[in-house]
Amino acid sequence: MATPARQRALPSVERILKALEPFDVPRPMAVRLVRDRLASARGATDTPIPAFEVFIHDLRRELQELAETRLQPVINGTGILAHTNLGRAPLGDDLVESVRSVALGYSNLEISLIHGRRGHRGAYVEHGLALLCQAEAATVVNNGAAALVLILHHLTAGSGRHEVVISRGELIQIGGGFRIPDILQTSGAQLREIGTTNQTSIQDYRRAIGTQTALVLRVHPSNFYMEGFVDRPADAEVAAAAKVGGVPFVVDLGSGALMDLTAVAGLHSEPMPGQTLAAGADLVCFSGDKLLGGPQAGIIAGSRSWIDRLKADPLFRALRCDKLVFAALQATIDAYLHAAARRDAGPPKTVPMVNLMLTPVADLRARAVTLQERLRPSGLVMEVRASDSQIGGGVCPRSSMPSIALRIPPPRGNAEGFLDLLRKHRPPVIGRVSDGCCWIDLRTVFPSQDETLVCALQAVAQELSAGGPTAMSGDAP
Ligand SMILES: *Cc1c(COP(=O)(O)O)cnc(C)c1O
Repeated sequence: MATPARQRALPSVERILKALEPFDVPRPMAVRLVRDRLASARGATDTPIPAFEVFIHDLRRELQELAETRLQPVINGTGILAHTNLGRAPLGDDLVESVRSVALGYSNLEISLIHGRRGHRGAYVEHGLALLCQAEAATVVNNGAAALVLILHHLTAGSGRHEVVISRGELIQIGGGFRIPDILQTSGAQLREIGTTNQTSIQDYRRAIGTQTALVLRVHPSNFYMEGFVDRPADAEVAAAAKVGGVPFVVDLGSGALMDLTAVAGLHSEPMPGQTLAAGADLVCFSGDKLLGGPQAGIIAGSRSWIDRLKADPLFRALRCDKLVFAALQATIDAYLHAAARRDAGPPKTVPMVNLMLTPVADLRARAVTLQERLRPSGLVMEVRASDSQIGGGVCPRSSMPSIALRIPPPRGNAEGFLDLLRKHRPPVIGRVSDGCCWIDLRTVFPSQDETLVCALQAVAQELSAGGPTAMSGDAP
C-alpha cells in the first residue's frame, strides 16, 4: 500500500510537466504519461522513490517514444516497392490533389448532380474499375481481406450450401496473421480441401463439387511459390467444372496487376483480372495498394448480377469505403484509363508504383554516382553497386528487378548501428543490411529525396566522427 508519506514525497504532476516543457505531443498525452509514471512509483513500495531528475529523464524518453509513433514520412531505401511496414504503394500528386479537393469540403458522394436525387456512392469508380477489369461490373471495399470475407460470407451464409472447395496448395497465410482457413471459418463456411500441397488435378475439383458446394475458390499464392513436381489445372478448366456443378468460381488474385508485368525487367507475369474473368471466373478480388498503386482498398469485379448481390449484402455496408478512398481511387483509375487510350504509351508513369518499376537502371546509376560525389567530403566511404529490388507486400516473391544501391561499409564495422542512426534521423531513412554493410537501394528513393538523403548521411557521418558513446549505442563491446 502507498502510504500518505510516500504520496507526499512524490513530485506533483504540475512540477514534472513544467520541467518537461515543451513536449512534442498534445498536453493531455503528456499528463497521462506523468500520472501513470507517478502511479507506478507510488505503488512500488519496496523501492525508494526515484530522484526528480530520474523522473524527468525517464519521462522525456517516454514522451519522445510516444511522439515517434505518429505517422510520418520516411525515405525507403530498402528497394521493396510495396513495403507493407512502410505503407505499401506511395501515392502521386494527381491522386493527392483529388483527395485534397474532395476532403477540404463537401462533395457529391451520394447525390446525383443531374437529377438532384440521392445518388450512388462510388458510381464513377465502379464504372472505371469494370472497364479496367474488362468486367460487367465492379465494386470496392476497405481492403483485399474484406473483399474476400464479403464474397465468402455472401456465398455461404444463408445459401443452404456451405462448402468451399479449395486446393490444399492454396490454404495460405497472408501477412498480418490472415489465414485463408480461418477466414473461411469466420464466414461460417466449411473447408473442402482437395488435392495435395503440390498437386491438384481437375478431377479433384470435379469430384469435390456437389450439392453442398457454395463456391469454388482459388487463391493466388502471392507470397510464396512452388517449384518442382507442381501441377494445377488452368483457370478455364476449373471454371468449366464449376459451371457444370452450377456453382460460382471465385479467384482471389492478391495483387491484381493491371499492366503486363513482363514489360518490367526481372518480373514474372501476374494474372490480370481481365484474363481471369475471361477464363470463366465469376468474381475476382484484389488489393488496391499493391501492384495497382492506389490507396488501400479491396476491389471486386465480375458479373453484374453477382456484384449487385454482394452490394445488397448487409455486410457490404460495414466494409464500404469512405470518400477519401474513392477520391484517391478515381485518380488512379483515370491514370490507367488515360494510359490505355494511348496504347503505345505504356502503363501510367504518374502512378508512382508504375514509375518506380519502370525507372531504368541507368538513371538509378547516374543518381548513385552523383550522391557518392556529394558525400565524398563527409568522409563516408561508399560504393555504387548493382542490387535487387522487389515488389514486396507478398507480391511476385520470386521476381526481382535489377537496381542500384549505395553500399556503405559501416565505420567501426557495425552495420546495424549505422542503420539505427539513419532510422533515428529526421526524416528517417530505412535501409537494409547485407554482407555486413548498409545498403540503400535507390529504386524506392524518389529523385526529389536525393538531397534529403545526402543530408541524412552527412549527419550520421558527422555523428559518428564526433564519436560520442551514444553515437553508436549498438556497438559491440
Ligand atoms: C494481400 C492479399 C490479400 C489481402 O489483401 P489486403 O489488401 O492486404 O487486405 C488477400 N489475398 C491475397 C492472395 C493477397 O495476396
